[in-house]
Amino acid sequence: GPVLGIETSCDETGVAVYDCQRGLLAHELYSQIRMHADYGGVVPELASRDHVRKLLPLIRQTLRSANLRMDELAGIAYTAGPGLVGALLVGAACARSLAFALDIPAIGVHHMEGHLLAPLLESDPPAPPFVALLVSGGHSMLIEVAAIGKYHLLGDTLDDAAGEAFDKTAKMMGLPYPGGPLLAKLAEHGQAGRFKFSRPMTDRPGLDFSFSGLKTQVLLAWQAHGSTPNAQADIARGFQEAVVDTLLIKCRRALAQTGAKSLVIAGGVGANRQLREQLYAAGEKEGFRVYFPRPEFCTDNGAMIALAGALRLQAGQTQGPEISVRPRWDLQTLSALE
Ligand code: ATP
Ligand code: MG
Ligand code: FE
Repeated sequence: GPVLGIETSCDETGVAVYDCQRGLLAHELYSQIRMHADYGGVVPELASRDHVRKLLPLIRQTLRSANLRMDELAGIAYTAGPGLVGALLVGAACARSLAFALDIPAIGVHHMEGHLLAPLLESDPPAPPFVALLVSGGHSMLIEVAAIGKYHLLGDTLDDAAGEAFDKTAKMMGLPYPGGPLLAKLAEHGQAGRFKFSRPMTDRPGLDFSFSGLKTQVLLAWQAHGSTPNAQADIARGFQEAVVDTLLIKCRRALAQTGAKSLVIAGGVGANRQLREQLYAAGEKEGFRVYFPRPEFCTDNGAMIALAGALRLQAGQTQGPEISVRPRWDLQTLSALE
């Protein structure tokens, strides 16, 4: 039956309905970005309060567009972590209470499993075994996926996440919050190859990432050339190329190491056009399949939570009666779906 999914881990209120037989029935998103822009970043307390304001109306709207009554739901999935504790608690309390009132199961979903499974919302979905590259605002991880729910961490970031590097670099170059997507847009108009930055940690073995040094290189280039024409776009281009290249090199290595033939890319940076194009091209040339969610399901959304919850419900994995969240939560501790 249909499962309602609720995402409130950070600054997006996402709600969706997914049915394992019928697919995605509806999804709605409310982004708090404009509110946080005045502060240059996410203010946790304001985020929680805004989720309180927006969540119930968004649930009603989603059910309306799915043409479903509340009592037709088979379960309620919500993001149980990782994320901001107050924001998570809003979604968890709402989901758990609704499930209790309707006498249906609640399913606590790991936010990064949601991102990782988002390509399953598309037609021609990937099937394990595969390697997943999760690149978002808070994470840069390479994961070996033996089965859905069975995750082994191959590589992680030692400092900034890929999305965080986009955001911080954008801020440094004077772009307004949230800078990541703006920097990417600017890079499209930049001249390739004018600024060449290093590909961090690619000169030694291993699958870990480090992006904070790249930020410093960009700062130096910006200080030296920032006032010359087109410098902003050209530097943005150089930065983006360095990130994309680095990610591609590590993905190749992870595929070689695991013997996997499929690569899944998800998380907000997965919306990046150059990343998508270069990975598809590499896959075609080198003989591996590449799967991305559509760009709107790369960033936070309720659809990925509804899907992950529906799969866990189908496998009989549901939550107890307590309202609990896990602001920090290791993806590797999840259990596999049978
Ligand atoms: P996490 O999932 O790790 O908890 P998050 O939920 O905040 O973090 P997402 O919503 O998955 O992260 O993604 C947001 C991030 O994606 C931001 O850092 C943003 O800059 C980045 N991002 C979004 N679009 C693009 C793009 N086109 N190019 C590069 N980065 C992008
Ligand atoms: Mg966000
Ligand atoms: Fe996210």
